[in-house]
Amino acid sequence: MIAIQDILDTITKEAKAESHKGKVANYIPELAKVDKNKFGIGLLDEHGRLFKAGDAEERFSIQSISKVLTLSMAFGLLGNDLWKRVDVEPSGDPFNHLSLLEMENGIPRNPLINAGAIVIADVLISQLKNPKEAFLEYVRNITNDPSIAYDTHVAASEQKTGFRNYAAANLIKSFNNLHHPVEEVLDFYFHACSLSMSCEQLVHVFYMFSNRGKCLRNHEYLNTNQIKRINAIMLTSGFYDEAGEFAFKVGLPGKSGVGGGIVALLPGKFCVATWSPGLNEKGNSKLGMQALEKLTTRIGLSIF
Ligand code: GLU
Repeated sequence: MIAIQDILDTITKEAKAESHKGKVANYIPELAKVDKNKFGIGLLDEHGRLFKAGDAEERFSIQSISKVLTLSMAFGLLGNDLWKRVDVEPSGDPFNHLSLLEMENGIPRNPLINAGAIVIADVLISQLKNPKEAFLEYVRNITNDPSIAYDTHVAASEQKTGFRNYAAANLIKSFNNLHHPVEEVLDFYFHACSLSMSCEQLVHVFYMFSNRGKCLRNHEYLNTNQIKRINAIMLTSGFYDEAGEFAFKVGLPGKSGVGGGIVALLPGKFCVATWSPGLNEKGNSKLGMQALEKLTTRIGLSIF
């Protein structure tokens, strides 16, 4: 019997003692205020048992982790037609890169880079009457947690400084792959990124990706084949231009965000979330990545 709680406690102690914690993202001014000494980890196993350590109950800005959730909502609504608007290849480039978009005629490489998530936001605006409310409801329903909310300060902060996202959206629009005004699409995109959630809440929403599309209450949001596709995209594209390194070290599909969160999962077994706001040079949480490498090494399980 693997003592999960002991492993999480040890990983947390080691992370808290680490002196090189990475750099907190500051290109979104509101994120620069976060204390980089925070560290939390939560794990939900296949029986629905929750294990947690450190600051696992504290909420933070999930940022790009939301891209998996907007993708799953859009995929559920639109089905395979979605892939006409966005590709499924890793980009090998930073999350806010623009030149590939120009070379590939406004079809983003995948839905987990900014350009891809901006197209997904546009798809959801076409499908939903009140996309911001409907998306929030979707996340609240999956987790059965009505307290989950947007952090409007973070959304407003990004609205003022998200120049590269405005550039990407305008470029996509010039190729006719955005059907709504840039401002409207980015307003929704920035709100989705601003979702404020804890590691404990994140494992409750991502549980369905480890449980063939069903949430803890057994409601099915996506079918098995759709889950296969989303997990494949997380493995190949979930960590900016460090997806290879994450697969190599951790061996799980997952997604990171510049708020310092990471979620990862082992299908049929568990879902795990970490939070440590300091990032490495590639924009992934430095200690979060280390913690997940230790976790899969110490429990001896990964998708490989
Ligand atoms: N809202 C952030 C941006 O668009 C998300 C970046 C990230 O977490 O990767 O720059």
